[in-house]
Amino acid sequence: MTSTADAVRILRHVRGMPASDGAGVKLTRVIGTPQLPDLDPFLMLDEFGTDKPEDYLAGFPEHPHRGFETVTYMLDGRMRHKDNHGNEGLLVPGSVQWMTAGRGLVHSEMPEQEAGRMRGFQLWVNLPAKDKMTAPKYQEFAPDRIPVVQPGEGVSVKIIAGNVDGVAGPISQPATDPVYLDITLAPNASWHYDLPEGHNAFAYAFEGAAQVGEGEDARPLVSQELAVLGGGVHLALNADAAGARLILVAGRPLREPVARHGPFVMNTREELMQAFVDYQQGRF
Ligand code: MN
Repeated sequence: MTSTADAVRILRHVRGMPASDGAGVKLTRVIGTPQLPDLDPFLMLDEFGTDKPEDYLAGFPEHPHRGFETVTYMLDGRMRHKDNHGNEGLLVPGSVQWMTAGRGLVHSEMPEQEAGRMRGFQLWVNLPAKDKMTAPKYQEFAPDRIPVVQPGEGVSVKIIAGNVDGVAGPISQPATDPVYLDITLAPNASWHYDLPEGHNAFAYAFEGAAQVGEGEDARPLVSQELAVLGGGVHLALNADAAGARLILVAGRPLREPVARHGPFVMNTREELMQAFVDYQQGRF
């Protein structure tokens, strides 16, 4: 098969870096590193995946956020979330929390198990200037609220955000119009998907391997590797003999200046300084 002009191809491969965050949780940082500081509107992607309690038990005690969204998708393990506005919830395996920090909140994210596997992702999605000081908001969904479709032989897609074959995921965010899919491909299974035009997109494989693109442009994506996608909208995935599991994430770029430091992501240095002052003075 030959490639077409609107075919998606891998622009670059990026491997994550070992990192530690919160009170010493060991994780792999994939976006938000020197190799890939961001992929507008995505500011950070962490994968956590361990069966050693000492890697995660200390959790992420109280810390602030302002100016963007944190998206936590749990594959295994449980995480208790609690903020200073009285919101509290338990993320179970397969659940997603899309938290709009907006003008600010202080929260903790703590594992609620003492043994067993802890696995999942945290993605940071930027907010446009007009929404950075919006009221904090949660879109949180248990696994049974997240649709799963079988768009082809050996293909299963869990739709957190975006549309597949007319089925919409539960997340609504008009500013970046995100797509967030958890794709399972059986050995040698193939799937074609059209990305929204003009979105930035990436795929991150976390089990197995797949070919991305078709014909001469096909390139492998192996586990623990991120592919920055581009060049078109028509994405072809072909799993290797062992099958593959990956997340496919896309969003409309904001194309605004970014002033970020730690848990604050604003547009200007002045707004960033104000975030520190407001946090220190308890205005979150
Ligand atoms: Mn947090």
